[in-house]
Amino acid sequence: MKFSKMFIPTTKETPNDATLPSHQYLVRGGFIAQTGAGIYDFMPLGKIVLEKIRAIVKEEMDEAGANEVQFGFVTPLSLWQESGRATTMGAEMLRFKDRKNGEFVLSPTNEEAVVNMVKNRITSYKDLPVHLYQINTKFRDEARPRFGLMRGREFLMKDGYSFHANEEDLVREFNLMEATYKKIYTKLGLDFRVVAADSGAIGGSGSKEFHVIADSGEDTIVICDSCDYGANIEAATRKPRHFTAWFENTNTPASMEKVLTQDLKTIEEVSNFLSISKAQTIKAVIKRAIFEDKTQIVVFFVRGDDELEETKACNAVNALELTDATEDDIKEAGLVAGYCGPFNLPSNINFVVDLELKDEVGLACGANEENYHLVNTDLSTLKDVKYFDLVAVQEGDICACCGGKLTYTKGIEAGHIFQLGTKYSAAMNANFLDENGKAKPFVMGCYGIGVSRLVAAVIEQNHDDKGCIWTKATAPFMVDIIVSNSKKEDEAQVGEELYNKLKHAGISTILDDRINARFGFKMSDFELLGFPYAVVIGKKLAEGFVEIVDRKTLEKIDVKVEDVLGKII
Ligand code: ATP
Ligand code: MG
Ligand code: MG
Ligand code: MG
Repeated sequence: MKFSKMFIPTTKETPNDATLPSHQYLVRGGFIAQTGAGIYDFMPLGKIVLEKIRAIVKEEMDEAGANEVQFGFVTPLSLWQESGRATTMGAEMLRFKDRKNGEFVLSPTNEEAVVNMVKNRITSYKDLPVHLYQINTKFRDEARPRFGLMRGREFLMKDGYSFHANEEDLVREFNLMEATYKKIYTKLGLDFRVVAADSGAIGGSGSKEFHVIADSGEDTIVICDSCDYGANIEAATRKPRHFTAWFENTNTPASMEKVLTQDLKTIEEVSNFLSISKAQTIKAVIKRAIFEDKTQIVVFFVRGDDELEETKACNAVNALELTDATEDDIKEAGLVAGYCGPFNLPSNINFVVDLELKDEVGLACGANEENYHLVNTDLSTLKDVKYFDLVAVQEGDICACCGGKLTYTKGIEAGHIFQLGTKYSAAMNANFLDENGKAKPFVMGCYGIGVSRLVAAVIEQNHDDKGCIWTKATAPFMVDIIVSNSKKEDEAQVGEELYNKLKHAGISTILDDRINARFGFKMSDFELLGFPYAVVIGKKLAEGFVEIVDRKTLEKIDVKVEDVLGKII
């Protein structure tokens, strides 16, 4: 492709609301254009990237035996009424009426549509399993569409749905999908982690998320440095099995020194040892957290017996977000019984664990990036840390973890797989006959990948202060041949020759042949657009050399014209 023939409207202007590099660079590079809140058009370069990702997703899904289909973007509300989600989906699902007053939905996901497709068409266990997927537009009326492609309202998702005769077969497919997703993200060239997750509005029992590691990620994930254990903070907080007590280390009370040397297994033992009540322990922590250092800590406590008390406690914790939270707010939080989730937390809080403790008392804390320890903590290593955790481990602590150091990091949710079970098939009366001729609801799984979000995720993970750095699998072109001065015939001619040579060798190449663009402009476009390599044809051509620039490192090497292909491959 030739630059002069392509619509690549690069600009120096950064959109006002663009805080993330991916948002800034994708707009500045002319990859995408916003038309409304959370609604983006893909311009030629953006479309190429999107299609590259789509192709990799499709290749691996087909390889895993799934069948590509396409559901209507618009679904009748009646389908959602059948499943019961017409009432539970909330405002994210956009509904509208046609001229005949018929009610419809812009599909935010397609469990209902796929059940409707399979129902009465597959009637016997002999025709199972089957896995149907599509790569298609979704619409979710997100409360806060933001960060460009990262949280759009209209976006592209791969959504797959599998149907099985029993749970064992679902688990087999679920594991196959986990392996398939790993292949996809690896092929895309991404650093990612698979984590245990919460099933959210989709429902079902088991679920796992795939997170692209990036500081800008909206999710906090807990990962082990020595094994594969990982959990989204939401899921990690749902299954807490540890107690965490927290003390300040700057003015270590003598009693704390003793605590450090004890093998205390429960919060009760800690409070007994310190001769203070459990409630006192908790309140002390709350106060310090709020009034002495706002940067470190969050507190949770007692599980409530009724909703009102829980709400009161939650409100009080929410109040912690406000700098004007009063001591009374905190006291109230300390006195009521309540279970609080880690929502609406101030951004300066790094990490939260909340607990559902059998003995009704617990507290949780966060710590700074380097020192969060949950299990098997060697307490002596925490002495240099301003705040530290005293960890008491209960039996069966943290599921599948080897006991290594747990740290947390930020991730972008790029995929999510669920074991749905019979939630939708039972609700929509979608059955098959088993070996004994007995009617049973299909056992289902569902599997999503945020295809358009991945475009942004690649850049969140791969950029510098000049622009995008595409991975080789996602780059719109592998090589940008920059003719320094297209008015010079020899440069233009070598550019053309190299372009043809690379193209014939199967390397996707763009030739920057723009007559009126100066070299500096072409170079800064290259840096902004993030093609993996530039081949610069300039002054050194007189001695038979061109320059190859590696976009990632910005290293330059002089190469003989005839050696370019060998160097690039
Ligand atoms: P999030 O937690 O970010 O809101 P989700 O859990 O609601 O995502 P799922 O229902 O699991 O999303 O959908 C599958 C995938 O679709 C997600 O893993 C994500 O990659 C992508 N996705 C979800 N919402 C959006 C969005 N608003 N914009 C772009 N991609 C999205
Ligand atoms: Mg969501
Ligand atoms: Mg999510
Ligand atoms: Mg999800």
